[in-house]
Amino acid sequence: MEFSSKLLENAVYEMSQLPGIGKRTALRLVLYLLKQPEAQTENLSSALSKLRNEVNFCKNCHNISDTELCEICANPKRDASLICVVEDIRDVMAIENTSQYRGLYHVLGGKISPMEGVGPQDLNIVSLVEKVKEGEIKELIFALSSTMEGDTTNFYIYKQLEGVDVKTSTIARGISVGDELEYADEVTLGRSILNRVPFESSIKAN
Ligand SMILES: [Zn+2]
Repeated sequence: MEFSSKLLENAVYEMSQLPGIGKRTALRLVLYLLKQPEAQTENLSSALSKLRNEVNFCKNCHNISDTELCEICANPKRDASLICVVEDIRDVMAIENTSQYRGLYHVLGGKISPMEGVGPQDLNIVSLVEKVKEGEIKELIFALSSTMEGDTTNFYIYKQLEGVDVKTSTIARGISVGDELEYADEVTLGRSILNRVPFESSIKAN
C-alpha cells in the first residue's frame, strides 16, 4: 500500500496491529476518524491511554476493576463459598448475563498452552490454590472452554488441589467442544452452569 502521507501511513500501521484489522480496514477506520470532529479522536485515544495507565485488577478474583475489590466480590449477597474459574473478563460478562450464577469468580488470565508458551506460572493459579486451601471455598466450578488448553488447565488446577476438601465441578457441555464461552447463548450457558457435573466424571468421560 502506497501512502501519500507518512502521518497517514503511521496511523494505518498502528490501527492494523489490532486483531482482525487488516491494512484496508485500518485505512477505512483512519479515514473515517479524519472526517469526524477532532474531539472524537481525542476521546478515543484518551480513553485508551487512561485505561492502559490506570487499569486495576480485583485483588480477590483478578477481574478488571476500578476499585480494589470488584463489584461482584464486594457484594455481600454473592455466595463467597462458590468460585467459578474462567479464562478472562469476557467469560465473567457472559456468565453474569445469564443471571443464573450467584457465586464469585476467579479470572485466570488465559489457559495453559505450551504451543503459545503459556505455562501455569503465567496465570493466576497460585492465588486460586491458596484461596481454596484456606478452607472457606466449598465448590470450584471450572468454566473454561472445552478445548485441549481448557482441559489441560482444569486438570492442572485439579491436581494442585489433591487432598484439599473442596468439591470440583465443570459446566455441563451443552456447549460443543471447542466453543468459546462468550459465544454461547445465554440460555444454554445459564443451563450449563445449573446442570454442572462433578469434575471427576468429566475426566472419565474423556
Ligand atoms: Zn473480584
